Amino acid sequence: MSKLRFDVVTAAFGKKAVEVPVNDKRPSDIFGINVFNRQKMFKYLPGDVYAKLVDVIDNDAPLDGSIADSVAEGMKRWAVENGATHYTHWFHPLTETTAEKHDAFVEHDGKGGLIETFSGKLLVQQEPDASSFPNGGIRSTFEARGYSAWDPTSPAFLMGNTLCVPTIFIAYTGEALDYKAPLLKALRAVDKAATDVCRYFDKNVKKVVTYLGWEQEYFLVDEGMLLARPDLLLTGRTLMGHDSAKNQQLEDHYFGSIPERVAAFMKELEIEALKLGIPAKTCHNEAAPNQFELAPIYEECNLAVDHNMLIMAIMKDVARKHGFRVLLHEKPFKGVNGSGKHNNWSLGTDTGTLLMAPGKSDKDNLRFITFVVNTLAAIYRHNGLLKASIMSAANSHRLGAAEAPPAIISSFLGSHLSSVLDHMETTDDVVKILSKRELRLNIPQIPELMIDNTDRNRTSPFAFTGNRFEFRAVGSEANCASAMIALNTAMAEQLVIFKKEVDALIESGATKEDALVAVIRKYIKYSKPIRFDGNGYSEEWRQEAERRGLDCEASAPIVFDRYLDEDSVKMFDDLDVMTEKELKARNEIKWEMYTKKVQIEARVLGDLAINHIVPTATKYQSSLLDNIIKMEQVLGREEGHSISAENIATVKEIAMHVSEIRRMVDEMVERRKVANRIVEEREKAVAYHDTVAPMLEAIRSHIDKLEIMVDNELWTLPKYRELLFIV
Ligand code: ADP
Ligand code: MG
Repeated sequence: MSKLRFDVVTAAFGKKAVEVPVNDKRPSDIFGINVFNRQKMFKYLPGDVYAKLVDVIDNDAPLDGSIADSVAEGMKRWAVENGATHYTHWFHPLTETTAEKHDAFVEHDGKGGLIETFSGKLLVQQEPDASSFPNGGIRSTFEARGYSAWDPTSPAFLMGNTLCVPTIFIAYTGEALDYKAPLLKALRAVDKAATDVCRYFDKNVKKVVTYLGWEQEYFLVDEGMLLARPDLLLTGRTLMGHDSAKNQQLEDHYFGSIPERVAAFMKELEIEALKLGIPAKTCHNEAAPNQFELAPIYEECNLAVDHNMLIMAIMKDVARKHGFRVLLHEKPFKGVNGSGKHNNWSLGTDTGTLLMAPGKSDKDNLRFITFVVNTLAAIYRHNGLLKASIMSAANSHRLGAAEAPPAIISSFLGSHLSSVLDHMETTDDVVKILSKRELRLNIPQIPELMIDNTDRNRTSPFAFTGNRFEFRAVGSEANCASAMIALNTAMAEQLVIFKKEVDALIESGATKEDALVAVIRKYIKYSKPIRFDGNGYSEEWRQEAERRGLDCEASAPIVFDRYLDEDSVKMFDDLDVMTEKELKARNEIKWEMYTKKVQIEARVLGDLAINHIVPTATKYQSSLLDNIIKMEQVLGREEGHSISAENIATVKEIAMHVSEIRRMVDEMVERRKVANRIVEEREKAVAYHDTVAPMLEAIRSHIDKLEIMVDNELWTLPKYRELLFIV
């Protein structure tokens, strides 16, 4: 083992778990202590201001500008009392991270002194220097300024000594430059459309809330090891590395005991999450070695998205304290499970009903079926768009890699629910009205608790799991908002169409129940191609999906086109979520990001191949040649030569791999040059996908062969067995 690698590996062994300060408080004592939540609003705001703010949060009342100063003052007082010295508007630009610009709570008083201030004006709106955030051409063509504006529906919080105020981020001309602005619009659209449909079943419903419960998968790697792997450090994934003799074959990691060092990390992470009001609940091992998962209890979607962005940031900080680095990349290791972020999604009313859960009565079940079938219709109509919403350079390594959902959107319902829908589709007298208050559904019994009765299918990208759907194709590194914008907008559109059709039937004389069932039947038939309960990993499914007309495109830059399809543009525009201009700008960013990611990987791999791999292989080759010559000197040409036959073959094989690596690295550089000359972002991304990305795999295959031939002592980079098993 090379000296560097020896030092790195031995340093990692036997590292002690970091002591987490003993925390004798119960979770309920620390929950939300760093959040300006209702309790604190109540304490720090005047009564009338508190009431107005709660009305904005709960009932979408317009924000009354006159309360801003008072809210800012209360917020600041709370923050300063808790050690804050700075404040920032916290927002989600179109990178996969968050952004913040910290300002101190002080202003010159004009008399040589400083005063602590935080005005309503500063709370409500700011102008961050936006020039360094991706904008897809919107800002440069119009006006350089971007605005961040307060989102009162997500509470302000403390991170260290900074008060963070969640905001949207928009251009001077009003176009969204972030994820939050369109998310809030999509949530409003689905609220309105779902409330209208709910009122067929319950006149008291005034609001429908979207819920999101995410499950975050991640890998932990020893920090020292990571620093000795430039590819992991710079690209988030290993661009080379032969399979470890043992990886996940034994499945002994899943739900296995958590190593002490990791347990200490998880404990601290959970404490930090609870302080920020993130209801962290379960931490456990995942299928791959060193892979873990964190899943808090579900929350209202906008808040859940913010909390997921926060947790990804906290994870990175806490991991460093414990001598780890977190890998959120979707596919850090070849041949080992990748990481996703399951998005458990459901809708619920302000009267406390979960719309995708069955109930006690047949009326409840008709409501349940209404929402399930509309979901199926929405994701069928926009299956290509939904795939685009979760697609990225990194996630495309995971999708279809026979361990994650394939790059085809389909939905699993389980045998029970499937048989109910099949029955409704083919039976004429589904509804029997017994009396004004009671109806009887002529369908198989639906158990009130489906959660315990749904079979599981891990291969499905969009599975029904008892009282919700689980969108499993979302990438571990992604901002959940992207998937939630597409899904909720598609659902809103479908519910609007559904209601129009039901109303038309009622107007022409049908009873409400008959009208509902007739339109439900139509959409059961319509959405049939999206239903698939079989093995999503199989080749037969890909062929079958193609026959059914589902979107089977796997090239990320082409999948992005789905955002600009006529029916996508119309949907986003009709529902006021995004304009065509915004969609186009966003796609420019997606293509540009794709190109940059592959470009960086190509550069890093080229450097490593020439600076680490080729010299190491050549050194080993020289030592073999030395041995061959010495054998011949001592034993004579004939005998020495025949004894050295295997070494001679190895020398030749190394020479072949080295020369292939050199040739391919040169070719990759040439292909990059050709791609770089393309001006249009889309075409450039396609060229990177089609011509550069395949070279990464081809070069890697030679490197991985060399890794198992070359003397272990000479190899400079930590190997998979070291990266994956030392904690
Ligand atoms: P799994 O079997 O997928 O691991 P869990 O019980 O761990 O399921 O739940 C996964 C996530 O789903 C959790 O975040 C949980 O809060 C969330 N969840 C449960 N019910 C709902 C719901 N109705 N809507 C949205 N998320 C939900
Ligand atoms: Mg899950």
